[in-house]
Amino acid sequence: MNLTAIASKALDGVPPSDAEILFLIELAPDRLPELLAHAHRMRAANFGDEVGLCAIVNAKSGTCSEDCAFCAQSGHHAAESPEYPLMDAEDIAAAGARAKAAGASRFGIVASGKLVGGADLDGFEAAVRSVAAQGLVPDLSPGILDRGQLKRLKNAGLRGYHHNLETSASHFPKMCTTHAYEEDVNAVRAGLDAGLYVCSGGIFGIGETWDDRVELALLLRGLGVPSVPMNFLTPIPGTPLEDRAPLSPEEALKIIALYRFLLPDRQLRICGGRPTVFGPDRRDEVLTAGASGLMIGDYLTTRGGDAREDIAAVRRAGLTPAKE
Ligand code: SF4
Repeated sequence: MNLTAIASKALDGVPPSDAEILFLIELAPDRLPELLAHAHRMRAANFGDEVGLCAIVNAKSGTCSEDCAFCAQSGHHAAESPEYPLMDAEDIAAAGARAKAAGASRFGIVASGKLVGGADLDGFEAAVRSVAAQGLVPDLSPGILDRGQLKRLKNAGLRGYHHNLETSASHFPKMCTTHAYEEDVNAVRAGLDAGLYVCSGGIFGIGETWDDRVELALLLRGLGVPSVPMNFLTPIPGTPLEDRAPLSPEEALKIIALYRFLLPDRQLRICGGRPTVFGPDRRDEVLTAGASGLMIGDYLTTRGGDAREDIAAVRRAGLTPAKE
């Protein structure tokens, strides 16, 4: 089997076959640079030299009803994480202004919890308007929204709806027992049906297999999700995954490259866990492994890095921040 031929086909819109996917997964470690180079070229073919930069605010934190095993915000775990209700729209807008000054073009308002009640919906609506007024693209990650809520928020100026599937349908029940995977898939479908830019991806390094990773990518492709956030586990004390070792940089880079082969024209945004997996010395390598976007600044419950350093790294890689 020929790596160049698989990459060329993928660029022409012919997805890798099952045998070719297995070939990519089993590629010898010394061929990783070759795999990454192909993924980087595929990224360039679809996104030119642009890198999407987004930032988030943790607008409502902790005491979540769900028990996602990797998450510090679950009310089921003993992890220490900040707990506060939905922030005021003004404070969210101020966080947006700081993110814009740091170089972000999209700004995600992220809230813990599964469903959205009436008071929070009012707050999200006000926050979306305030963030849009800053000249940022407002995105929202509020849990599961029904179609009526999506419509109302879209009318308020919401551009992006973020709802991760986290992992494959097969692995999900081992990570979360408080709701069904299908509820998340339906939320993604509802966001797409509402005409919103849907960001939906997952977290890697949570005990999933390569088959799980492929299963998630193929589902996202089939759903037509345009933007795929890729997170890597930072094991957090007090969560069920506290003792799990982070992925190696090589494995994480291979996942990014594989996702580029499976999702050649989708925005692949590298989000949480980049400092954990890559450390200070290797965190820029994602930019030449097939990724087309970065989350800058802090993540939900873990520290990110200096946004100025990320933007400098983007430029060092011969790339440029995208307008959106
Ligand atoms: S990942 Fe989201 S739904 Fe799951 S526990 Fe954390 S905040 Fe709740």
